Amino acid sequence: LNPVLQTFRDSPFTQMTLRALELGAVNLGQGFPDHAPPAFVQEALQQSFTGPQQYVPVAGLLSLREELARDAKKRLGLNLDAATEVTITAGATEAVQSALQGILQPGDEVVILEPTYDMYAPQVKLAGGVPVFVPLKFEGSYVLDAEGLKSALSEKTRVIILNTPHNPTGKVFTKAELQAIAALAIQHDLYVISDEVYDRLTYGAAHTCIHTLEGMQDRTITVGSAGKTFAVTGWRVGWAFASAALSKAIRGVHQWVSFCAPSPLQQATMLALKTAQTFDYSASVQQDYVQKRDFLSSALQEAGFPISRPEGGYFVVADVSHMGMTEQQACDWMLKVVGVASIPMGVFYDQGVSPFAGLRFAFCKGQETLEQAAERLYAGC
Ligand code: GLN
Repeated sequence: LNPVLQTFRDSPFTQMTLRALELGAVNLGQGFPDHAPPAFVQEALQQSFTGPQQYVPVAGLLSLREELARDAKKRLGLNLDAATEVTITAGATEAVQSALQGILQPGDEVVILEPTYDMYAPQVKLAGGVPVFVPLKFEGSYVLDAEGLKSALSEKTRVIILNTPHNPTGKVFTKAELQAIAALAIQHDLYVISDEVYDRLTYGAAHTCIHTLEGMQDRTITVGSAGKTFAVTGWRVGWAFASAALSKAIRGVHQWVSFCAPSPLQQATMLALKTAQTFDYSASVQQDYVQKRDFLSSALQEAGFPISRPEGGYFVVADVSHMGMTEQQACDWMLKVVGVASIPMGVFYDQGVSPFAGLRFAFCKGQETLEQAAERLYAGC
């Protein structure tokens, strides 16, 4: 078997969900909404039989690509040709994988900023590349270490992977930080794969799409997802925005991986996007999620855990370093004694160790779930 597989582990998110179920813990571990998607999204799914039930072209349903291009222009200021620069994949996961395999040659290096969602490094290795990790600096909040990034670049570097809003920290990269990354990408002739699946989920901070910065149009792949946009992570509809040449490479891989994402769900995503454009959907999601963020953040603080309030995304990280336990022990105690499932921050580091003991909690949950978690935190901590 492929020896790279020996460096992989079972998904810590799935494992935690199973343990939470087994122990009856409130599951704030794996990041998926446990509340129903918005009514108009449910309706779009019901209407999906009006669309194709057979294969669609490798690039994806054209009407969905057109809606995405319209939305990207309006929301992100990104100009895209739906025919040649938008590709629909089976989730954002496949978009990143197809982009990496479309770009990398054996031994090429890919820079990943740590802490990091744990998907990118295995994907880089599957594509024959070598992940190179650059830590974000922690100064009360996480900031880009532009010097550190610069010194990590070598002759072999081909790609920088970016994730904003960021999982697990909730950081939203500032325009200045993105300009610094863009300047290095241009100077060293690199591609940037920018995972922006949480792009609508910002709480005051402005999301900038690096793709729109000068000189980045032909070297950025922007990745998004219906799962995160509409609270339907099981739909497995994602997309990649890239120049025609890069899109051709992505499609070249995608056709041999999944050929196309499920066509009825592409149709449902297209219908949902159409409706989302008739009102300020992003504002309504933000309003909802900012309450969830604040509710859980306050509960954690009142239970005695310092947090840094996330500017975006689904997650809040609590500092448990004062507890006199290892991070793993704290996670187990939280799960078994308090009855709340979380993810230890070590999961988001290549070496498995976070600079401070922290637990990541997902707040993309129904109010009842969050209240139950808060009660347990008050009672147990
Ligand atoms: N992105 C989700 C998280 O960080 C997990 C996704 C998955 O389990 N595949 O919790």
